[in-house]
Amino acid sequence: MLAPCCGSLNEASVRHSILERAPADSLGVASSESRFTSGMALPLSAIDDDEGAALPSALPPVIDAHVHLFADPLFKAIWRWFEAYGWPIRYKLTTPEVLQFLFSRGVQHVVALHYAHKPNIARGMNAFVAEVVKQSGGRVTGVATVFPGEDDAEGILEEGFAAGLRGVKMHCHVQCFAPDSEALLPVYRACVKHDLPLVMHAGREPSSPAYKCDPYELCSADRVAHVLEAHPKLRLCVPHLGADEFTGYERLLERFENLYLDTTMMMAGYFPVEVPQRLLDCRPERILFGTDFPNLPYAWDREIRRIAATEKREERLAAVLSGNARTLFGIA
Ligand SMILES: [Zn+2]
Repeated sequence: MLAPCCGSLNEASVRHSILERAPADSLGVASSESRFTSGMALPLSAIDDDEGAALPSALPPVIDAHVHLFADPLFKAIWRWFEAYGWPIRYKLTTPEVLQFLFSRGVQHVVALHYAHKPNIARGMNAFVAEVVKQSGGRVTGVATVFPGEDDAEGILEEGFAAGLRGVKMHCHVQCFAPDSEALLPVYRACVKHDLPLVMHAGREPSSPAYKCDPYELCSADRVAHVLEAHPKLRLCVPHLGADEFTGYERLLERFENLYLDTTMMMAGYFPVEVPQRLLDCRPERILFGTDFPNLPYAWDREIRRIAATEKREERLAAVLSGNARTLFGIA
């Protein structure tokens, strides 16, 4: 089993378990009782757990399909935001340090994700990641970003692809758009044209009341279904296992063969939520291991150790830890 427990858990009981642990009374900003952090003080607390010196040697090859790489000033701004409104950052590492850290501990390959929080910065950000990819000796897959609705969005992505980037990352919460917004059409067109995947934070969680928009108003599994219906050739990966609409995303996995989910933070036992086992079991060939490193409030290997401790089927583990990411991103 991949999950800590709970084959029979449904979304209603997930809500119930959050409410039990965190009565919605003290925060005063979250309007929905189903939110992960409802009633919890923000920022959340760090977990001071032990970390391994390296990945266990018995593990199959590991690709972290959800690592964040930014230039130093952006990293610092993101950490300031997280430490005010999200959670403490345990690993304040620069981009070269992030890669050195993960590779020296046994991670074989990383998929580098970034996102533009305003117009007119995506070109520079994409150039930065493209350079990192070039210098990585084939160990980093980078993707491009663009701000929804900005001028020449398709041209920005075309330039990124020409520079060696192999997909696109978008973030509904930070960029304040709904998945089925018209502003996304150039992104969907570019990805389909080049048959490159889109990683889009289109689930409602993990959310924060500090975002300039309400992820619960923008994001839903239904809206993602509209996107996949309208763009049947789009290969889409939704991070965080689609949290918190686990049942909705289980249905989408069954309906759409181009939909993938990554595990990022959901298998770490950090948020007061339990992932239904049947979500992990329904299309295991389209679940990717990812972490959100370095923006973590707990040990770098916490999530993978928990996955490895519960998933005893070797083939399944190898697929989740690297095989599925190879397929989606075309990693050799
Ligand atoms: Zn992330």
